[in-house]
Formats: sequence, C-alpha cells, structure tokens
Amino acid sequence: MARFIFITGGVVSSLGKGLMAASLAALLQARGYKVRLRKLDPYLNVDPGTMSPYQHGEVYVTDDGAETDLDLGHYERFTGVPARQSDNVTSGRIYQGIIQRERRGDYLGATVQVIPHVTNAIKDFIRADIDPECDFIICEIGGTVGDIESLPFIEAIRQLRNEVGRGDTVSIHTTLVPYIAAAGELKTKPTQHSVRELTSLGIQPEILVTRCDRPLPDSDRAKIALFCNVRTEAVIPALDAASIYAVPAQYHEAGLDSEVLHAFGIDDAPTPDLARWDDVLDRLLNPEGEVTIGVVGKYVGLQDAYKSLTEALVHGGLANRVKVNIKWLDAELFSSAESEIAAALEPMHAILVPGGFGERGSEGKIASVHFARERKVPFFGICLGMQMACIEGARNTAGIEGAGSSEFGECHEPVVGLITEWMSAEGLQKREASGDLGGTMRLGAYEAKLAGNSVVRSIYGSDTISERHRHRYEVNIHYKEALEQGGLVFSGMSPDGELPEIVERPDHPWFIGVQFHPELKSKPFDPHPLFASFIQAAVKQSRLV
Ligand code: GLN
Repeated sequence: MARFIFITGGVVSSLGKGLMAASLAALLQARGYKVRLRKLDPYLNVDPGTMSPYQHGEVYVTDDGAETDLDLGHYERFTGVPARQSDNVTSGRIYQGIIQRERRGDYLGATVQVIPHVTNAIKDFIRADIDPECDFIICEIGGTVGDIESLPFIEAIRQLRNEVGRGDTVSIHTTLVPYIAAAGELKTKPTQHSVRELTSLGIQPEILVTRCDRPLPDSDRAKIALFCNVRTEAVIPALDAASIYAVPAQYHEAGLDSEVLHAFGIDDAPTPDLARWDDVLDRLLNPEGEVTIGVVGKYVGLQDAYKSLTEALVHGGLANRVKVNIKWLDAELFSSAESEIAAALEPMHAILVPGGFGERGSEGKIASVHFARERKVPFFGICLGMQMACIEGARNTAGIEGAGSSEFGECHEPVVGLITEWMSAEGLQKREASGDLGGTMRLGAYEAKLAGNSVVRSIYGSDTISERHRHRYEVNIHYKEALEQGGLVFSGMSPDGELPEIVERPDHPWFIGVQFHPELKSKPFDPHPLFASFIQAAVKQSRLV
C-alpha cells in the first residue's frame, strides 16, 4: 500500500517546495521505489487554465488533457512519470463538485459544511486513482501555512494522518531561515513560529526543510530541532543550488531521503543510483560551447510563463553538450523597420516563436519568421509560432495577400481559423461524434502521422507520434496546396488527415513549426528529439557566424 508524504510551506511563499517535492520523488525513485506526485492548490479558480501567465506562470497540460499548475511540469521532468488530471486539484474544483452534488440533492437534506464535506472531498482526491504498485504519494500543498484558504487542506491532512495510520504518513514542512545582516546571524524564530502554527492545526511535522542562503550552523540546527520537536538530523538545510538539476543530489547530501525513510521506519532501503543525475550535471556544468537562442514572445517579462520551454531548450543543450543562452525578445517591441528587426535577430544562432494567445505582438512574430526564413537561420515555431510561420509563408511565398488568423479579428484570408469556420459539414459531424469539436480548446495528447521522407520523420525516428496540445485555432487545410507550392511542406497531419500538425521547409537548414507543445514532454535525462535537433542546428549556425 502506498505511503503518503505531505509537504507544506511556511514563513513566505516561493521557497521551492515544488522542486523539493520533485527532488525527493527523484531520490526515492533512484532507490527503486515507485512514486506519484500531487499538487493541492488552495485558490478558487477551478483550474489554472484561465489564469494569466504573467501572474501564475505557464499552464502545464497533461496527456489526459488537464490544465494544471506548473509544478506538475517539474514533477514530470524530474521523475519521467506522466502527470494526470488526478494529480492536481484546487479549492475551486473541490467546491464545484460539492455544489453540483448539493444541487442534485445528493446530501439528502444535510447541512453541507467545510468539515466534513470539503475535507472529505480533499481526502478522496488524495486517495483516488493510485496505482497498486505505487510506494509513495507525495502531496504538495500550495500556499503558506496560516493562510485562511489553505485551512481545509491542512485539516484534511490531519484527519488523513489518523485514518491511514501515523506510520504510513510523513509531514515535511519547508521554512525560511533568513540572514539578518545587522546581527550577522541566521534567525530561527520564523521557523519556530511557523511550526507552532502547523502544530496548532494538529500536525507535528517529522521533517523540516530550512531554506537559507548560507550554511546553517550546527547550533542553529540543534536549536530548531529542540524548539520544533524534531530530530536534529531531521532539520535539513537547503541552500540555493547552481542549477535546479543539482537540487536532487544536494538534498541527498543533506540527508532528505534518508530522513524520510527513517521517519517511515524503513531501514533496508537500497542506496540510490544517481548516475543519471550525475550525467545531467556533468553535461550542464562542463559545456563544450554555447549558443544563443532568440525567443520572440509576448510574456517575456515573467520567465515562469515559459517554464517548460526554457527547460526543454536547456535539455536540447544537454543533448549537444552546449550551454544555451536564451535571449527573450518582446514581439510587441519589434518595430516594422526591417533594419531594427535584423539588428535584434542577427546575433541569434536560432529563433523560436513560442505558443501564445491574442493578436498582441503577432506582426513582430511574423517578421521574425520572415527573417529566419530568408536568412536561413534555424527556426522553431510552437503552436501560435507554427500558425505565424504559415501566415508568413502565405503572405510572402504563396502570394496570399492579407493572410491572417481569425483569432485576431475579421480576416479575408483566414489561413488560421476555428475548424467550425473552415471544416466541411461532414468533417465537423465526424468530429462532433468523437467529442472533438473545435471552438473549445483542443487539450491533451493527440496522435500525428509523419510523412515518410520528412525531416521530422527522421528526427523522431517514428511514423506516429503523440504530443500534447492546447489551442483553439488550426491551420486551415484549404490553404495546404498554396502553402506547399510556396515551399512549406505539411509533414505531420492528424490521423484523419484533416488537421495540420507539423510544417517544415526542406530548402532551409532547419525550419519546423508544430501545432503542439513538445516542450511539455522533454526531460533533462531524455531531451525531446525536436529540441535536441534544434539546438544541434543552432550549434551549426554558430560555426557559420
Ligand atoms: N492562440 C492560438 C490558438 O488558440 C495558439 C495557442 C497556443 O499557442 N497555445 O490556437
């Protein structure tokens, strides 16, 4: 039966709980255990799908089509275990379910309350959909202990610890130990207060992870242990790491996984095999060159908005043993003056236009595609980026004046549109029958068939691929012929041949646009083939300039 590890945070937010959870999972996995990671978010949105990337960072999409918190991306990148819909829940979703049941009359006249109804729903979520062979379920609770909105989650964990049995659950609390310059000391008091808050809610943590910006003296470690009622060895100092991929090894050194196993009373665990992490770090810390990639996007002000993309580019660098520098370019600031665009893009070894929504910056993105195509600079268009590549191709190589996307308003030549705008009635009927109708977001994993002699076929080494989608609009297949005459080949299609999935230019060193998000499936120890190939092309380009 699976054991549960609950992770809470105190003092401040942004302590890296998600990375800690992912690292702990990777360490347990390295010891041969099967793990699953879950995130419980106290906010009231039903899911992060509607939240601004500026505020909340990227929306991470799972194979089964859930729009989830970006921490699930860390979980998947660190463990290779595909995240599922059932791995992320919010207060909003919990309440939505309860209110639906209440309206249906399922509560048979009872008064519906936070305890037991909300807490029961939270416990049901934590225990649902667990594979029988799973050894550990790691549940991260978003927010900070003491927040009003996280109270039902903490209460649910308190109850669950009694129901499952104390021996089968462990609580880890993450806190901050700040350095006060005026005193020249690290201060343990915020940690003491935060643990007191948690214990007042009925949870005595077994392990404390203390974030600090310098080594924690033994005396402070002992003091925290004494005041917070844990073993001294269970106070795990967590210093800033050189890279997120150094975090698992650092936590292992600090004794995190051993303490967790000790808390469960497991004393015969195999030692961890960290070979794959050692290899990742070796590649990361000893690069044999570097490349600069220009990312022309809209949400460049907050890098968390492109978290998976950033990581996938780094992974592409690992595959080629080069350091990847990312230059974030705000598409909106691109003027229409060709010379200015060229000045910004000329130093780049490759150009990437990522996914996005809305018209803002679209002309700057199209201009970047134009530059990359004409100057033969490696180009990668992802989702909206592929749509921009098709619009650029339509305007400048297929002679379709006024080509655009209906996402940006009324358009005479909607090379990109909703399928309800361009698909045949028969095609729409078939899609409706299979529940896959446009107009709503196409979400989650879909298959694509790759053309036999295409570049992408050789990059993937396979005829059929499955990748994750998150978009409403599609490249209109009625423009396929004209675009192909302009040199843009449709090398990947949906299995029914109706929806373009990949376009490429065979007369260009590296020019690929994909309707899906390959970055969501890339891992440091298993870089996505498209990103590995893209960075390889950038390396070649760097030797030319
Ligand atoms: N806005 C585009 C659409 O909805 C692209 C979405 C994306 O890039 N994720 O189709």
